[in-house]
Order: sequence, then structure tokens, then C-alpha cells
Amino acid sequence: MTLWLVLGAVLIAGWFSNRYAWWRRQVDPRHPRVLMYHMVSPHRPGAKFNGLRVTPEHFEAQLAWLQREGWQFFTVSELWEQWDTLPAKSVALTFDDGYADNLHNALPLLEKYDARATIYMVVDRHERDWSTAKKAHHNTGELAREPKLSDEELQRLVASGRIEIGSHTLTHINLRTTATDDKRRELAESRRLLQAQTGQAVTSFAYPFGIYGEEDVALAREAGYTTAVTTLDGIDTRTPCPDPLQLKRIKVSGKDNMLAFVMRMRGGKRGWKK
Ligand SMILES: [Zn+2]
Repeated sequence: MTLWLVLGAVLIAGWFSNRYAWWRRQVDPRHPRVLMYHMVSPHRPGAKFNGLRVTPEHFEAQLAWLQREGWQFFTVSELWEQWDTLPAKSVALTFDDGYADNLHNALPLLEKYDARATIYMVVDRHERDWSTAKKAHHNTGELAREPKLSDEELQRLVASGRIEIGSHTLTHINLRTTATDDKRRELAESRRLLQAQTGQAVTSFAYPFGIYGEEDVALAREAGYTTAVTTLDGIDTRTPCPDPLQLKRIKVSGKDNMLAFVMRMRGGKRGWKK
């Protein structure tokens, strides 16, 4: 009996520690944080990708906390341009893929909290199910059915003056399985098309699935990007300064509660990961 109680307590403590990483040392707030989001929307019952859906209520609570704690918002390009003179508590919010809820659910909250963000757009994003490009068994069509930003909606985001548009390739390619010439085209063409559409310089890139190698970093630079974000979990140091084409991000999961978010802002990552 006692043995089971002890075992149960150990299991619960282990789960709690892994989830909240409370033991992780706080990373100095002088080091900027880059947060990674996908959708801001209510969860769909039984859906596979609810981890990518941060509810509007959670998103608002996160923005309110950031504002209350004195974090200042930057786009990724602004963050890099001002890297040497960034104030303590600098944060960049990023959204991958180009979901319609970024306009309908996220933008009103960004406005309410005077925040800014970078959205990494897949140019050819409609009816496309990129989850299958990584793992064939992901073929449920869920992400294909998820509404994406129309070109007109993209314009409204740009017109808000608080959104930087970055590229996430033409078709959300898997860089590991794509020929070099095709990579070149995906990187350069997506940049050119998004610049034409937005009238803004497009200088930031997000590696689809976070999959990339050395060659891809060089190709991104060659295509004219000055910053690129990965899905490497963590916080880059102000000094020594990181490779701006391999910036780390803090994953914000739709399954996290507020405590998990705060711990992630403190320590950069979840669980036991190095
Ligand atoms: Zn993506």
C-alpha cells in the first residue's frame, strides 16, 4: 500500500517536472524570446492537431501577461536589426503557415495589447495538406481543410501596420527531400511573390517543419533572407550573437496552460530536453 503511494507520488512529481520544467534556471531576460504559434482558434473535438491551436482565451492571457510583465514586442526583422541595442524583455511573436484565424482571432488581440508579430506564409497554401510531406500517415486532411488567409485577408494584416510577412516557401516543402534547384526556386519565388503582394520587403524565412541543413542556411542567405527561424526549442543569447539564419524559438502549444507558458518564457523549453 505505502509502496504504491510512494510510487504514485514519484510518477506525479516526474510528470509535473517534465511538464513545467520548474527546475530549469531562468534564462536572463536580456536574451530575446521568439515565440512560435500556428493557429489561434478554439480546439476542434477529436482533432489531431489541437496542439497547434492556441485558444483565443489562452492567447489573450499570454499577451496580457507579457504586457503586464513589461515585455516589448518586435517583429523578427526588427529584433535582428536592433539586436545590439535591444531592451531587456524583448519578444517576437511568430505564426507559421498562414491560417485565416491569424487575422480574425489573433490580430484583434495584437491590437488590444499593442503587440506586433511576424507571419510566415506558405504562398500556395489553399487545400494543401503539408502534414503529409513529413509523415504519410498524417493524411487526415485536417490541415488542408483549415481555412487559410486569402490574398485580401493578407492585405488587411499588412495594412494593420503591426505584421511582418515572412516566407515559409511556396508549397511547404520538406527541405530534406527536395532537390537543390527546387529549393532555390521555392526560396526565391516565394520571397518575390510575397513582396509583390504585400509591397513590403520580405527578409525573414521559416524552415518548413523546422527541417533544414547547412545547405539550406546558405540557400536562404543566397535568396536574400537576413533572418530565419527554426523549430529548435530555446532562447538565443544576445552575446555572443547567434546565426540570424538559425534562430531558436519557444514553442507555444495549444495544450499548455498559463503556468506552462510562463515557465517556457523563463526557461525556453519544456521538459528534460537539453
Ligand atoms: Zn509550417
